[in-house]
Amino acid sequence: MLKFLNCQRCGKEYETENRFSMYCSEHCRNYETRICLVCGKEFEGKIISNKKTCSKECSKILRERTTLNKYGVKNIAQNETVKQIIQDKRKEQMPEIINKMKQTLELKKNSRDKVTN
Ligand SMILES: [Zn+2]
Ligand SMILES: [Zn+2]
Repeated sequence: MLKFLNCQRCGKEYETENRFSMYCSEHCRNYETRICLVCGKEFEGKIISNKKTCSKECSKILRERTTLNKYGVKNIAQNETVKQIIQDKRKEQMPEIINKMKQTLELKKNSRDKVTN
């Protein structure tokens, strides 16, 4: 039996046979209204995505802002000092990573020994 329901998202009235139906269309089911983090405009974002901006331009600005916060420059690749900082950080983390790898290997070896004994 057909029923008239109001879409939970856009409010439009629509006909459906499914009385548990909530949305008028696939679009309303898959998208939600979000506020752009950059310009504050409302936009439709796919529910499964984590899009935070309304357009390519805004997402570029957001990315630049994030980089700016982290490294103090807009574009990492353009800045030699930042490149250096990142490389240094990686080097700092290297011994830690190697240690972890060693530990994992050790653990594996131990458990293998136990099995053979
Ligand atoms: Zn709708
Ligand atoms: Zn925007």
